[in-house]
Amino acid sequence: MKIHEYQGKQLLKKYGVPVPEGQLAVSGDEAMEAAKRLGGVTVVKAQIHAGGRGKGGGVKVAKTPEEARTHAQQIIGMMLKTHQTGPEGQEVKKVWIEKGCNIEKEFYLGMVLDRASSRVTVMASTEGGMEIEEVAAKTPEKILKVAIDPAVGFQAFQGRQLAFGLGLPAALTNKFVKFASALSKAFMEADCSLLEINPLVVTKEGDLLALDAKINFDDNALFRHPDYEDLRDLAEENPNEIEAKKFDLSYISLDGNIGCMVNGAGLAMATMDIIKLFGGEPANVLDVGGGATAEKVTAAFKIILSDPSVKAILVNIFGVIMKCDVIATGVVAAAKEIGLKVPLVVRLLGTNMDLGKKILADSGLPIISADRMDEAAEKVVKAIQGK
Ligand code: ADP
Ligand code: MG
Repeated sequence: MKIHEYQGKQLLKKYGVPVPEGQLAVSGDEAMEAAKRLGGVTVVKAQIHAGGRGKGGGVKVAKTPEEARTHAQQIIGMMLKTHQTGPEGQEVKKVWIEKGCNIEKEFYLGMVLDRASSRVTVMASTEGGMEIEEVAAKTPEKILKVAIDPAVGFQAFQGRQLAFGLGLPAALTNKFVKFASALSKAFMEADCSLLEINPLVVTKEGDLLALDAKINFDDNALFRHPDYEDLRDLAEENPNEIEAKKFDLSYISLDGNIGCMVNGAGLAMATMDIIKLFGGEPANVLDVGGGATAEKVTAAFKIILSDPSVKAILVNIFGVIMKCDVIATGVVAAAKEIGLKVPLVVRLLGTNMDLGKKILADSGLPIISADRMDEAAEKVVKAIQGK
């Protein structure tokens, strides 16, 4: 689960991470009031769940409260395009007005759960304010890493090691150690999967400040934080994923054009692999899980049908607890309700497969059936190519 910069900063502040003072605004007038209250130079920052806002025109410095109003009026309502939003951009609904600071130098400090080492890895770089992905690709040696031992947590010596590696002046070492320790405490206690401060700045006054904050919470730990529900911004989330969540379905949106309905995470991975093997690209994967009802399958299939990027559908089911006739009933109900405008390939195997196939055949829908998985993948890829 992602949250906005302003929410991230409020959370970090509770852990003692220094952040600039700020205020949320949803209109130009509110932005002006906020800027007046904060005093001095302020920065108007678009709040969307994507990075790279500065480059896209979503972060602007205001010398006066009136200027803050003008910037806010311009930013609120804009479709902000960044490298993370996709070409259509993301509509800005609110801005965060923040005290401007005098930047001496920008650094990067991030923490992420590294599944390979089963540890939280702290990354730091002198190349702050830039896209860290680019730094990692072009100059990986400029990213310093330390892993946190879960038994003892982030250690001061690790902080000193990073501070030294970043070339921070000795006078700032202790401040950096405190900063990184507070950040790691926040990461652990708030159950984050990603926490990035880009940039972490050294101000001309010699302070450290988190000028940006990107936080993702670990979805598997959300049950421990019922209060996070208030931080959720549904306007920023994929509508199909929200709909799928309502029915307790796992749905993942991807960039291709083949919609996939499967049962089980393993089969989902295998289905994506085999589609790619035959030269196709999945548009999404919807996992109906084990004991879904026909209603749930109907809801699932409707989600796939309503996705405009889907140009063909592959239903790949290995029925064990899940019964093939339930899948067939759900697919037929959804297709009859919404209409089936793209080729549909179905591969059913396992419990009640004959009954399932009969339901599909009796439905009169133009279904392409397949017995084997590779055959199904090949057929769906060919169907898209019009072969
Ligand atoms: P994004 O990463 O989405 O572009 P940031 O919050 O990192 O957004 O802001 C982009 C740049 O704007 C920062 O790298 C920094 O140079 C500048 N900036 C952001 N907040 C402030 C602030 N409070 N005072 C001064 N400069 C700021
Ligand atoms: Mg940033």
